[in-house]
Amino acid sequence: MKAVVVHQPGGPEVLGVETVLDPEPGPGEVLVAVRAAGVNHRDVWRRQGALGPVVPPGILGSDAAGEVRAVGPGVTGFVVGDRVVVCPGRSCGRCPACLAGQDDACPAFAIAEGAYAELWVAPEDRVVPMPSGITFEEAAAVGIPYMTAEAALLRADPRPGQSLVVWGATGGLGVAAVQLGRLRGLRVIAVTRRADKADRLLREGAHEVVVGDPAADDLAAEVLRRTGGRGADVVFDSVGQASFGQSLAMAARGGVVVTVGATTGGAVGLDLATVFRRRLTVVGGYLGPRGTLMRLLGLFARGALRPVIDTVLPLAEAAEAHRRLEAAQVFGKIVLTP
Ligand SMILES: [Zn+2]
Repeated sequence: MKAVVVHQPGGPEVLGVETVLDPEPGPGEVLVAVRAAGVNHRDVWRRQGALGPVVPPGILGSDAAGEVRAVGPGVTGFVVGDRVVVCPGRSCGRCPACLAGQDDACPAFAIAEGAYAELWVAPEDRVVPMPSGITFEEAAAVGIPYMTAEAALLRADPRPGQSLVVWGATGGLGVAAVQLGRLRGLRVIAVTRRADKADRLLREGAHEVVVGDPAADDLAAEVLRRTGGRGADVVFDSVGQASFGQSLAMAARGGVVVTVGATTGGAVGLDLATVFRRRLTVVGGYLGPRGTLMRLLGLFARGALRPVIDTVLPLAEAAEAHRRLEAAQVFGKIVLTP
């Protein structure tokens, strides 16, 4: 099969297409012919070596949709030709958390890789049926961004009518948070550096758009102004170092700051007095359970939501996909097609 293989960490240029041995499904595994693979910021960090060494075969990518090509011994839920989505989370499947459907709380929980390829093997319980009514490209755009945003909103648990600030709102994760926040009946304030994308954010569900750079502008003051001095009930922060201090400053008393990523770095200074005097809650979100993916796919199948796809590129242009993502030139998701 053809696959994008990383031998050494580095810039986008290390993403070259090679012909490698076809994987084969073992007992309880499903071999998926990948029709579309989502590109995530995580893939960029993996390519850079920022999340530890890339282990052979060194194929990146954690979100894929496709068709079942073959099944291993003991697989009962799928047959060749089924349209499926691969859940990026992996867990032991046996511990109390897994058995309770909270696989993201499993001590062995990890995010799988191998989607930038023509074929990908996954355990049967990590493969979910792809509903009709969405394309392979859309289905491959759901996993990490929508699961992460939904799981984070569940943890923050806001009531309808409360306010939600979304940093980095034009990215794949940001757009997902805007759409899901709107669906929950929240008042969504989208923050972006890109004035040219404000209209699109309004169309995707934002009530208001704040344009500015977290590293240079006092956007907390702007959010406070727009909330009558009260601040936001929930702040969804995937930016990290450049925004986190402002996230705390713009949160309402008793508000929740959800950290789901750190595109500008993860080390932040934190004045605890800000947290305890204003009774803030800081919550972490990391993907979410498999059940969330199934529920989200149902929302897409019913037309309640539509994944936003910026560009579809052939697998051979994975390097270009990473360049665009790193240059923040994307609105929504980039998807690769083998
Ligand atoms: Zn487990």
